[in-house]
Amino acid sequence: MIVERVEEYLERIEKNKDLNAFLEINENIVEEAKKLEKDEKAKKKPLYGKVVAIKANINVEGYTISCASKTLENYIAPYDATVVKKLKDAGALIIGITNMDEFACGSSGETSYFGPTKNPKAKDRIPGGSSSGSAAAVAADLCDFALGSDTGGSIRNPSSHCGVVGFKPSYGVVSRYGLADLAMSLDQIGPITKTAEDALLLTNIIKGLDDKDNTTVETPEYKKKDIKGFKVGVVKEFMKVTDEKIMNKIEKAIDVFKDLGCEIVELSYKYIDLALPTYYLINYVEFFSATRKYDGRRYGYRIEEVCGDEVLRRITIGSIISQKEYSGKYYKKALKARNIMRNEIFRILKDIDIIVSPTVPKLPHKLGEKLSPMDMYSYDVLTVIANLAGLPAGTIPAGDINGIPVGLQIMAKPFEDEKVLSAMIAFEKS
Ligand code: GLN
Repeated sequence: MIVERVEEYLERIEKNKDLNAFLEINENIVEEAKKLEKDEKAKKKPLYGKVVAIKANINVEGYTISCASKTLENYIAPYDATVVKKLKDAGALIIGITNMDEFACGSSGETSYFGPTKNPKAKDRIPGGSSSGSAAAVAADLCDFALGSDTGGSIRNPSSHCGVVGFKPSYGVVSRYGLADLAMSLDQIGPITKTAEDALLLTNIIKGLDDKDNTTVETPEYKKKDIKGFKVGVVKEFMKVTDEKIMNKIEKAIDVFKDLGCEIVELSYKYIDLALPTYYLINYVEFFSATRKYDGRRYGYRIEEVCGDEVLRRITIGSIISQKEYSGKYYKKALKARNIMRNEIFRILKDIDIIVSPTVPKLPHKLGEKLSPMDMYSYDVLTVIANLAGLPAGTIPAGDINGIPVGLQIMAKPFEDEKVLSAMIAFEKS
């Protein structure tokens, strides 16, 4: 059974090579599947024989974890990230390593050194980023589910554009040990799946306290809850920045929550204009610092010599801001703005169970279309808030516009991941 499914996936991957979803395939997976089938004890494991794809910035021992960059094109992971170890222990099989934006810097899946990923649901469009390959692999049914990482939306954005489910847990719920940092105060690993039930299952497996990542906390097992009576917040300002066609879909989604017995509450968030400047400033500075180890001595090439434009932009500006004379002027201000934004989202969430909104405010552009950095960044305006405040946030398919998927974002207070996952499950079933 497992062997057959693995073979089916391998065949489909071969047929869908043009998507450029995978950077490396596990050559031994059929052997591993055979071994697993013979292992009687393994049958009880929660992910027995499930086929998983991993984003190319999460260490899987023996695989090339290139972060889709030339800098690390020959970097073989010497160990398993905590999440990978947990997946393996739960009986999952790893089918391969997925494409992404270079060092997770991007919102379109186009900045990979190994070429862009295509969107399986709308092939002339970008799949979104930065976890482009993971979302495309799930959307094209090339695996059971995938892992992505999310610093400012990189799980939710491509999941939304590819019409699949994506979930970014609260900051600290899932260990980042073995994840190549983009901005460590914002990064979280999370699942990309075909169903919300699978997102719940996978989150329960990968989460937990880890002595290798001291920002982690232990949380009780997440269970599906009844969402009847939930107070569902709808934020005016999130709607205002969104394309009208997308809003029509989101309004229908809000009606679904009414039908499910939820109370809809209109909310106002004062600081949406701060979202992108605050996020990108912090991102540049933390990324600059994270990349200092890629100096050409220990790992691969010197990053500045071989990276793409977007990575170079962040390193260059990050370095300028990090210099003493600028730090007070920009970085400290960004941290203050982050605090203000965080307090404001906590204020509006106070008496609310979940906030629903579009995941991405506009439809994905055509592959190859040139966007200014600001236009590229504007994809992220609704996703970065969850990272800046450490909130759990998921995306769930909410219909399509001429075949292009639209996602609904659901957020909650920190560590109320269970509410987000339960609302995603209820919405999906409705
Ligand atoms: N698009 C955002 C950025 O470029 C988010 C990336 C991410 O979450 N990894 O920084």
